Amino acid sequence: MDNKEISKAYEPKGVEDSVYKKWEESGFFNPDNLPGRREKPFTISMPPPNATGILHIGHAEFITIQDLVIRFQRLLGKKALWLPGTDHAAIATQTKVEKILKDKEGRSRHDLGREEFLKRVKDYVKNSQHVIRGQLKKMGSSCDWSRERYTLDDGLTLAVNTAFVQMYNDGLIYRGTRIVNWCPNCASTLADDEVEYLEQKGKFYYIKYGPFVIATTRPETKLGDTGAAVNPGDKRYQSYIGQELEVNLGKVKIHIKVIADESVDPNFGTGVVGVTPAHSLIDFDMASKNNLPVIQVIGPDGKMTNNAGPYAGLPVAECRKLFVNDLEKAGLISKIEEVDNNLSICYRCEHVIEPLISKQWFINVNKPSKKLGGKTIKEKALEVVKDGEIEIIPERFVKTYYHWLENLRDWCISRQLWFGHRIPVWYRKPRTENKELGTESSKFKVQSSKLKTIGFHESVVPQVLAGKTKTYRLKDHKFKVGDVLAFENSQTTEIFGQGEINKIVETTVGQIPLDDPAHGATYKKVEDLIKALKFHYPNREVTKDTQVFVYSYKFTPVQNSKTEEIYVGLTPPKGEGWQQDPDTLDTWFSSGLWTFSTLGWPKMTKDLKTFHPTSLMETGYDILFFWVARMIIMSTYFMSEVPFRQVYLHGMVRDEKGRKMSKSLDNAIDPLDMIAKYGADATRLSLVIGNTPGNDLNISEARIAGYRNFVNKLWNISRYILMKAGPAKLVEKQPLPKTLADRWILAELNTLIDFTSVNLEKYNFSVVGEKIYEFTWSKLADWYVEVSKSEAQGSGPTPSTMLRVPRAKSRGRAQGNSENILLYVLQSLLKLWHPFTPFVTEVIWAKLNPSAMLMVQAWPKAKGKVDKKAIKDFELIQNIITAIRNLRAESKLPPAKRLKVFIVSAKNAGLIKTEVDAIKHLARLEDVVVAVKGKKPDKSLSAVISGAEIYLPVSGMIDVGQEVKRLSLEAKRVEDFIIHLEKKLENKQFLERAPKEIIEVEREKLIINKENLEKINQQLKTLK
Ligand SMILES: [Zn+2]
Repeated sequence: MDNKEISKAYEPKGVEDSVYKKWEESGFFNPDNLPGRREKPFTISMPPPNATGILHIGHAEFITIQDLVIRFQRLLGKKALWLPGTDHAAIATQTKVEKILKDKEGRSRHDLGREEFLKRVKDYVKNSQHVIRGQLKKMGSSCDWSRERYTLDDGLTLAVNTAFVQMYNDGLIYRGTRIVNWCPNCASTLADDEVEYLEQKGKFYYIKYGPFVIATTRPETKLGDTGAAVNPGDKRYQSYIGQELEVNLGKVKIHIKVIADESVDPNFGTGVVGVTPAHSLIDFDMASKNNLPVIQVIGPDGKMTNNAGPYAGLPVAECRKLFVNDLEKAGLISKIEEVDNNLSICYRCEHVIEPLISKQWFINVNKPSKKLGGKTIKEKALEVVKDGEIEIIPERFVKTYYHWLENLRDWCISRQLWFGHRIPVWYRKPRTENKELGTESSKFKVQSSKLKTIGFHESVVPQVLAGKTKTYRLKDHKFKVGDVLAFENSQTTEIFGQGEINKIVETTVGQIPLDDPAHGATYKKVEDLIKALKFHYPNREVTKDTQVFVYSYKFTPVQNSKTEEIYVGLTPPKGEGWQQDPDTLDTWFSSGLWTFSTLGWPKMTKDLKTFHPTSLMETGYDILFFWVARMIIMSTYFMSEVPFRQVYLHGMVRDEKGRKMSKSLDNAIDPLDMIAKYGADATRLSLVIGNTPGNDLNISEARIAGYRNFVNKLWNISRYILMKAGPAKLVEKQPLPKTLADRWILAELNTLIDFTSVNLEKYNFSVVGEKIYEFTWSKLADWYVEVSKSEAQGSGPTPSTMLRVPRAKSRGRAQGNSENILLYVLQSLLKLWHPFTPFVTEVIWAKLNPSAMLMVQAWPKAKGKVDKKAIKDFELIQNIITAIRNLRAESKLPPAKRLKVFIVSAKNAGLIKTEVDAIKHLARLEDVVVAVKGKKPDKSLSAVISGAEIYLPVSGMIDVGQEVKRLSLEAKRVEDFIIHLEKKLENKQFLERAPKEIIEVEREKLIINKENLEKINQQLKTLK
């Protein structure tokens, strides 16, 4: 092809999409299609982005790093698989779709019903996955789309259910009543590590508590206290241990038992703590050991339950205000202190977490398993990292990992969400004519035919369970006081308890109080109440004057755990009356299986055998626990092998000032905007150069723009080479060097290839990027290409005399070879750059070799021993040229002025003479005279470098007086610095305390500065 057609500037926008299409159509993203014999696999499971997420700069970061690694491994000749996919992200997705539903249609998920709602979510996800795929492609991701997975697809759902059933059968999964982290806003439990802590100013209330004083930050929970605990060794309280006391808390009296427990710190507060089993994990444990009753005073809706007496129905914060006020009135507050404390908040919605007692599914992390040879899953997950089967990069996170696992408690895996993997458990009540109802204190049976039923909308059921004792009905049910009713969930027809009517009031809607704790719900205006009633009676006219029945009741919930049958399996059980558990599984349960479920597990597929354990898990350090640890737990348990060999943790991307990117700060950088403006390659470079594992990265648009300039530079160098080299061709073998510059650039290239190969294996992306960048710009472009231009001008060989060098066009020095070398260097350089900047390198490659793609070429190998002498010799020439350029610049000589230079070198005159052409060309000189010995010319600037002295006669060219003044000032500055250094090196304290290397550096500085001073004084002498 005619390389003269190559455009002057690289336009990423016009070519990136078509380059990606070419890659995709080649089929090479799929390791099965890669050319050549490839034995060793290299696998990365892409951390699945949330199915409804939009790609942000954090995604762009991991995509760049992983694509870089997989492209490198593909070039190395591995069977490289990068498996993409998306995560259903239950809470995030459900919340998002609920919000859209509310904003657009004013409806809740309950209005739609489970089935219809899930259909909506499915449609939403489908569309969003399409968007994510498009974004991944824009970044240049070379992942195998034919193997793309989704955590909720059929295969992965089978894997999830299989995993649940296996763990259940192994006794590791159990259903239990425990304290869970409850987010009243999300109406769901959260895993321990989904709770975030917000440091805040709080209050520490000291409350008179029977004969004691106790201190608490959450006074309202004291309404649910059933015990007071002291340390068994605390002499002050010995006589109270075992006593049962009535404690006056103002408007409420509670009954407590005094217990002794080692966990109580006698030196903290007063040494006595109130025990609140339903709302604190530690207290729950103490209560279980001591058989204390459990009283729940905060409901799942975040409001006080009926057990809170006069405070029932109040939101927690309001109850706290009122309760503290009542305690103060009763003289029961002894003092209130300001404290700094950590508020537990939901990581998703930032609502305050309420620890609640609840029935949930758990994974036992402390139970020995036969499958693990008698070890617990926690022990196994620790072992594989301790034994080095998994390497965590950077290493400092290993400690964090141990710490987290060592403190891991049973993992609550059930979530009260509709979207997600439904728990594969079915329940059935005993088949009987009777509807059996029972309570903790009593059991009774009532003939169902005799029992009237009252329905409650599913959304109201939790309120009833939490203590609501009034219901408003437009329909006259003709109930009488004393009637016992079966309470039915109208959506599932499940009986969840029974109520005894104890009061009936007939009134009108307008007369109903808007805020009645016994009813639970609070309305701002009567219109809100009307709206709520219309929701339950869609076909009725409702106004202020509509007649309404207010039924008050005493409620007892069904206790069905002892009587119901339970079935755990992959498919619904046969027979009638089975109800599937309404809850879904924690998202991390399914993503914990990701490395092997995506390869076909539970089937033992060929992919699973070939690509598992995967090679690298590359992800953010912020999900080391959420996800990485869980994958290790799941894989060691189900696969009996580690999920990956190495974990590389990247940091967060922040703005140029180091702030988190956020909507509120309006400092977020959208990777797609950046790609549109500067190209994917520049965006990628900004995300890897300067990025080191485990550390946050600051980026700005200016940085990305800077890399766009670099990509352009690479383009221009390539363009120059291709145009100079004539018809494009591949140079398979390293060409023979003819000149020092040839030998030097090949030596530098071979050094770079070695450095890159070694360091990319170690994931040192940033230093590698910097080195290739330096080679491209400072070595190839600034020196070798420039030197080759001097050859193009065709200067002849240098006679070894001190005479003027004559111009001779006839005998080109190493004619033709620099072109081959340029092509060879470019070819290798494109391969080295390809993992970093795949688009521009592929485009340039196509001009060199249109018949085969760069992405499947072989990684370059360093040829022979590195020619260290060439590097050293060429450095001398570079130093000479740089010194001349500096002399010119410092004395403000116009760059166009052609000068004559004398170089004196006892040792290197011969070498310098052979490079006179290059020196002349690069230092813009008219003439160069080299000598073994020589007299300093009059009125000349001079520079002394290691191995040569350089003289630049400037008589009549510069203001000598001015130059003398400048040099004198410089001499003074250096002198002062030398004095400073000398003092420092005489300071005993410094010499004793500073590390040896630092002292060495200071000594070095002193020597260099003394040499500098010497040179300046020399210059002054020659000018004067
Ligand atoms: Zn929440």
